Amino acid sequence: MPLAEIKSRIAQAEAKAGREPGSVQLVAVSKVQPNERVQAVLEEGQRCFGENKVQEAAGKWPGFSEQFEGIDLHLIGPLQTNKARQAMELFDSIHSVDRPKLANTIARLAQELGKCPDLFVQVNTGEEEQKAGVMPADADGFIAECRKLNLPVKGLMCIPPVDEEPSLHFALLAKIAERNDLQGLSMGMSGDFETAIALGATHVRVGSAIFGERTY
Ligand SMILES: *Cc1c(COP(=O)(O)O)cnc(C)c1O
Repeated sequence: MPLAEIKSRIAQAEAKAGREPGSVQLVAVSKVQPNERVQAVLEEGQRCFGENKVQEAAGKWPGFSEQFEGIDLHLIGPLQTNKARQAMELFDSIHSVDRPKLANTIARLAQELGKCPDLFVQVNTGEEEQKAGVMPADADGFIAECRKLNLPVKGLMCIPPVDEEPSLHFALLAKIAERNDLQGLSMGMSGDFETAIALGATHVRVGSAIFGERTY
């Protein structure tokens, strides 16, 4: 689907929900996509992109950054502590802060590097064993812990279970954000970003609807 069409669907969903125009940021998820497709979307003017692997992003984005100004890169996949430094140097936002060890490492590196990306705490709203994220019951405590470390926590992120109604998960995430005074809500993907916007998403992570299916 053309980028312009996704953007107009976002604008319509904003209007329908009574939200400010432009209040939802489109994070174009470029993981696994061939460079020509990413290049084409850059040429259409998109600057905000999401990647789920540090290594993959490190291979492709420094080159694009030389060609295009104002790139805003978001890490949306799990982060190992031994890759935290590289991630903090490469990304403008990290959506997958989900455990004390990682929070502590980021806090230490922020001191050392003199900068820190915007952070989102990932919440495992479906309480799925294989999925990253803090459990909903632990979210308030973990957010407080991050704040004690002076981390720039801007919001929360979730990935609903594939076979469940996403709106319940989006609503839960919004509720946790509200009671913790957090504005950012990273939720909604190709199949459900309009639902996410209706429930308050500030960042939608849309991959295949823009770029086409990923061939692994
Ligand atoms: C891949 C991915 C997306 C994009 O998924 P699509 O269904 O292709 O839009 C969004 N969020 C995360 C965390 C992802 O890993």
